[in-house]
Amino acid sequence: MFNKVLIANRGEIAIRIMRACRELGVRTVAVYSEADKNAQHTQLADEAVFIGNAPPKESYLNADVLIQSALDSQADAVHPGYGFLSENASFAAGVESAGLTFIGPSADSIRAMGDKAESKILMKKSGVPTVPGYEGLETFADFKNAAKDIGYPVLVKAAAGGGGKGMRVVNEESELKEAMELARSEAQNAFGDERLLVEKYIADAHHVEIQVFGDKHGNLVHLFERECSAQRRHQKIIEESPSPLLTPELRAQMGQAAINAAKAINYHNAGTVEFILDSSPSSPLRHGSGQAFILHPSSFYFLEMNTRLQVEHPVTELVTGLDLVHWQMRVAAGEKFPFAQNDLHQHGHAIECRVYAEDPANGFLPSVGRLLQFIPPQGPGIRVDSGFAAGDEVTHHYDPLLAKLIVHAGSRAEAIRRMKTALDDFIVHGVITNIDYMRAALETDDFKQGNVSTRWVETKFGEWTPPQPDLRSLIAAALADVVFVGGRAQPAVSNETDPFNPWKGTGNYRN
Ligand code: ADP
Ligand code: ADP
Ligand code: MG
Repeated sequence: MFNKVLIANRGEIAIRIMRACRELGVRTVAVYSEADKNAQHTQLADEAVFIGNAPPKESYLNADVLIQSALDSQADAVHPGYGFLSENASFAAGVESAGLTFIGPSADSIRAMGDKAESKILMKKSGVPTVPGYEGLETFADFKNAAKDIGYPVLVKAAAGGGGKGMRVVNEESELKEAMELARSEAQNAFGDERLLVEKYIADAHHVEIQVFGDKHGNLVHLFERECSAQRRHQKIIEESPSPLLTPELRAQMGQAAINAAKAINYHNAGTVEFILDSSPSSPLRHGSGQAFILHPSSFYFLEMNTRLQVEHPVTELVTGLDLVHWQMRVAAGEKFPFAQNDLHQHGHAIECRVYAEDPANGFLPSVGRLLQFIPPQGPGIRVDSGFAAGDEVTHHYDPLLAKLIVHAGSRAEAIRRMKTALDDFIVHGVITNIDYMRAALETDDFKQGNVSTRWVETKFGEWTPPQPDLRSLIAAALADVVFVGGRAQPAVSNETDPFNPWKGTGNYRN
């Protein structure tokens, strides 16, 4: 095992990784920007290295400074977390050529999956089902013909895309030109690469992803699925495992497809293969009305592979009993899996809610301010991964994720009840949160029946308005404000020029 690991990230995920390191007897080095001098992750590490100004480009995205910091602190490995440089092949290569271990897949694997067009071509070759569509087109005429052939609606997508950016749905030919121009300029701005692909838009879709894991000895297993269909603007807000949709047969087929995808790029370490499932009324999969589906073997399509640890990894940890970060470190250090696919099982049901500092009643604008009170829920089957404590400042520099609230219970219905209770008990004053919004979502019949497609939040759950706060919480909030002179939270939009800055308007980046 390593002696010391530098964690090239911040917030909850940096702390999550530090805990795993401590459990394995590994020393930790945190990195922090000007804005994170007093952040929890900076304080909790054995050592902390200052790496630059608040904008990510000048700190958490500065590969040279991160690698030099790892060398200076005599770390022997680097964990990239998620977001930032976690899927940057040159960073992974740079870490390795500095004589350090990158706790993640090889740079070649990252590169192979880094491009949505190239990876789709590779997946088709490897027999993994992909969404019907075309890659490598250039002229408008080519796109027009392709879209006609696929059949509207279609989706134009940035080949270099990520975080839901650079995607446009096109319902008919007259909209194609403008959609392409918008997607191209968004892609150019965010990724410096304007290439687009076009594919069938699956209007009623479920997002189901498979966690895969490989060691460096050629052993690959999957750790089952996560259902992530509850999304806003193509970004996940609630995730769960098992998926209410999968039959054992489909689970086995998707698991095998995910392993084939990983095999095609000689994958080791943790990765996620994202699939989209067609659940439209006209789909051969839908049976009867409402919730019962009969799933057809070819009903799922590869979307992309995320070559890193995923935000929603805790739900998999709770149902499989495996610590994914331990295993990331153990396989990176060369250990062989002591288990095979048949040894792995799903136990009970886990749900994760992403608690954000944002205002659902105001276009989900991020909300900044000091956390006057921050009291996460406790109790059986409740896990909270957070990078904040009371008194901390939520700034406009980074993703406004306050905490991931994860529950585990014997059944899906129990897990939903446990999550609702936990959300009720979560006390946050000083910033506006999406806690009430998520609780209301969980209370709908659609959610209870597992009848939530990727457009559900926007089309069926768009009319939600916040409840009037009760007297007790108003008094508590007012008292808290007096105690900690902080003032009321205001939604804020940053003037940052960084295209990835989540506080730029409402096009938030989330992993
Ligand atoms: P998901 O599928 O889980 O939503 P994606 O893979 O689509 O996640 O998006 C993550 C990618 O977005 C990262 O690998 C990275 O390339 C890019 N990214 C995320 N955050 C930043 C950032 N702050 N600066 C630059 N690039 C970023
Ligand atoms: P990103 O890298 O931004 O995460 P993805 O390809 O994973 O890009 O897509 C993000 C989300 O967009 C998916 O989870 C899904 O909700 C939606 N999406 C992507 N492709 C399609 C499609 N062909 N049809 C319908 N929805 C799609
Ligand atoms: Mg994705």
